[in-house]
Amino acid sequence: MTQEPRRGPGGEPQDDCLFCRIVAGHIPATLVRESDTTVAFRDINPQAPTHILVIPKVHYPDAASLAAAEPAVAADVLREAGEVADEEKLESYRIVFNTGSGAGQTVFHAHAHLLGGRGLQWPPG
Ligand code: 5GP
Repeated sequence: MTQEPRRGPGGEPQDDCLFCRIVAGHIPATLVRESDTTVAFRDINPQAPTHILVIPKVHYPDAASLAAAEPAVAADVLREAGEVADEEKLESYRIVFNTGSGAGQTVFHAHAHLLGGRGLQWPPG
């Protein structure tokens, strides 16, 4: 991961964003997959046997703002999450976009959580 985050309209990398810094290779992460527009890496505090974050290289604060500005990249995030699920041999899994602190979002760079490898309750807490 030596590539600087790709710049897009409104999607410029933010110096104070943890995930922009991971995309830039300034903070280490356990990378599992990378595309031109996305990076997937293992969550540092896994909530399931498989817990992988799939993020766009461009910076938007949440999934909805990414989808509004760059829908093709939002689709890339979803497709990559599915590819990672296949690579991890997950038969069942959940893709979650926490949006807003009240929903548990702590990093304000759009990201999909891919969770699997155990039974998942519904509704989530
Ligand atoms: P959120 O709470 O915003 O939906 O998800 C952010 C996720 O990022 C959390 O699950 C958290 O464990 C993960 N995380 C926070 N800091 C780091 C880090 O430095 N490296 C990695 N790999 N994951 C992180």
